Amino acid sequence: MSAQVVWDRGVSISGSRLWLDPLVVRTFAFISHAHTDHARRHKEALLTPQTLALIPEARRPRGWRMLGYDEPMRIGQATVTLHSAGHMLGSAQLLFEHQGTKVLYTGDIKLRQPGGMRPTHVPKAHVLVVESTYGRPHFRFGDPDSTVEAIARWCRLAIDSRVTPVLLCHALGKTEEIMLALSVYGFKFALEKRCVPCARAYAMAGRSLPDWVELDGEVEAGRVVIAPPAGKDEVRRLSRYRTALVSGWAKDAEFSRIFGADATFDLSDHCDFDELLEVVERSGAEQVYTVHGYTEDFARHLRKRGIKASALEATEQLALAL
Ligand SMILES: [Zn+2]
Repeated sequence: MSAQVVWDRGVSISGSRLWLDPLVVRTFAFISHAHTDHARRHKEALLTPQTLALIPEARRPRGWRMLGYDEPMRIGQATVTLHSAGHMLGSAQLLFEHQGTKVLYTGDIKLRQPGGMRPTHVPKAHVLVVESTYGRPHFRFGDPDSTVEAIARWCRLAIDSRVTPVLLCHALGKTEEIMLALSVYGFKFALEKRCVPCARAYAMAGRSLPDWVELDGEVEAGRVVIAPPAGKDEVRRLSRYRTALVSGWAKDAEFSRIFGADATFDLSDHCDFDELLEVVERSGAEQVYTVHGYTEDFARHLRKRGIKASALEATEQLALAL
C-alpha cells in the first residue's frame, strides 16, 4: 500500500478502506466523538464504547466495532490505536500505522484539561491530520481552571443578588463538563430541555453528574440554569436572570454579539491557536493536513514556521502522496 491521505467529504487513508469522520455514509468509518457533525448511519463504525452510548438511537451506525483507548487493533495490514482526545467523553484520536509509517488523525481535540487533570497526550506520527476550528491567532484562551473559577464567582454573585445565572453551553459535552467542573463549588443545576437527553446519556455512559432537574418554568433559587446558546424561549420565561456564553467563540466579538449574552467566558472543548501549534509540535509530524474551521489560515501559519502543511478541504477531492 502506498500511504496516502485522501479527502472526499471526509478523510481516508488510501488502501485502508477506513474513513475518518466522513460526512456521508460509508462502509467502514471511524467516528471520533458523538457530536452531530460526526455521527452518520455507517454500515460499520469504529468507535469508543462511550461515543456509541452518547449517539442518539436515530443516528447510530448500523454496525460497530468498539475499541477502548490504547488497545491496538489490526485492520488488514495496518494497526489502529485510539487515544483520548480530551474533547468530550469518549472522544478519540486515531493513530494508523502501516509499514513503519504513522498517520495521526486528531478529530476534535483539547489539550489543557481543568480540575488538575493531565493534558491530553499526543502520539508521535509522520503525518498529522489536525482539526483547526480555532486556527487563527486571536483565539487564545485563558487557563481552564481560572476560567472555571471565574464562572463560579459570576454564578455566586448572581445567586446572591437573587438573579438566576444562565450558562449558554452546547448541550452535549460542554454542558456536562461544566456541571462537573462547577460541582466542586457546590452548585446545583436546572437544564433546558435540549440538554436533558444529553445529560442522561452522559450518566448512562458512565459519568455521573451532580444534582440537576429539568428547567420547567420558574427555577428554585440557588440553581444554575444551563441552556444551549441558540433559542432562549424557555430562559426568557425566567423573571430575573443573567446570561453568560461559555465558548471559544467568546474571543470573537462578532460571535459574542450574535449570541447576545451579558457575559462571556472563553472555556472551550477545542484547542486554541497555541494549543494547536503544540499538537503539531508534539506529534513531530513532517507533514500536516488541516480540517475544519480555519483550515487555510492555520496551514499558512504552519508554513510560515517552516512546516509542510496544507488544508485538506481546499478542494472537493484530492489524493496527496506522503
Ligand atoms: Zn466536537
